[in-house]
Amino acid sequence: MLKKIIIVACILGSSFGYDLKPIKISNSVYQFVGKTEAPSKLNGGDMVNTYWIKTDKQYIVVDTGPSYKYAKAAHEAMKRIANLPIKYVINTHMHDDHWLGNNYFKELGATIYATKTQSKKFPVGSDAHMLSVINKEDATGTKVIGIDKFIDKNSSLTIDGTKIDFIHFDYAVHSPEDIMVYLPKEKTLIAGDILFSQRITSIRDGSVEGGLKSLDLVEKMDIENYATGHGKFTDKTALKQMRDYFMALKTTARKAIEDGVDLDKYVKTADFSAFKDMAMMEILHKSNLGFAYTEYEFFEEK
Ligand SMILES: [Zn+2]
Repeated sequence: MLKKIIIVACILGSSFGYDLKPIKISNSVYQFVGKTEAPSKLNGGDMVNTYWIKTDKQYIVVDTGPSYKYAKAAHEAMKRIANLPIKYVINTHMHDDHWLGNNYFKELGATIYATKTQSKKFPVGSDAHMLSVINKEDATGTKVIGIDKFIDKNSSLTIDGTKIDFIHFDYAVHSPEDIMVYLPKEKTLIAGDILFSQRITSIRDGSVEGGLKSLDLVEKMDIENYATGHGKFTDKTALKQMRDYFMALKTTARKAIEDGVDLDKYVKTADFSAFKDMAMMEILHKSNLGFAYTEYEFFEEK
């Protein structure tokens, strides 16, 4: 027993260290896949996917991960593929698992692109919840820094001949303001948290209707590689899993409201057994039911 306690204490107390391996998912895009679980001392916040776009002359980083050390470890891994400078860093949305590595890249001279919402929610020097969840050692060096350029509408950049489209959502989807990054030439969509596979999403800062609307848009696009914010799949799996879950939330919540079932009873009785194998059900699903119910209580179909 004592031995067990000592081992557990050692794991919790010692630095996790990041073992990051990039996977090439299309001609110029590399993916780091995080675990499909909540951030913890054991995973160091490595529960998010981050992406690197390689041109002939540089890397463009889309989402920088949960800490300075994570960003540095990702960079070390990418240096083994090619040692290129990083001038552009893009953050898909305000959730801190996706961008706490920003200050690592800022030190290298990169320009940080993100939403205004992120900048408002996390002023320079503010606290990020992630840093109180992971080990102190893993959090070392991480700072909340400012955003250099805002992405507030659909726009494009061409960098070393690679065209990159920013798709901006001006309605709440996963968060109040989300961005997707699309590479038309290789039909790769880096969707941020618009798409998840293997695990359920969180509705806390977003909306079920917004989620469904965003999927309609994604379905109309010409995509071969779906680069998701969480989960390992890059085929259409995420699209189906997201739609199924959002639709189940919508139908069950609306039916409950129509039948006069109150919120409490709805949360206790809604049948989501079809989703029992999805990761994060125990952590996120009950509150998602609550958010869905509240959203549809005053909802009018257009
Ligand atoms: Zn996320």
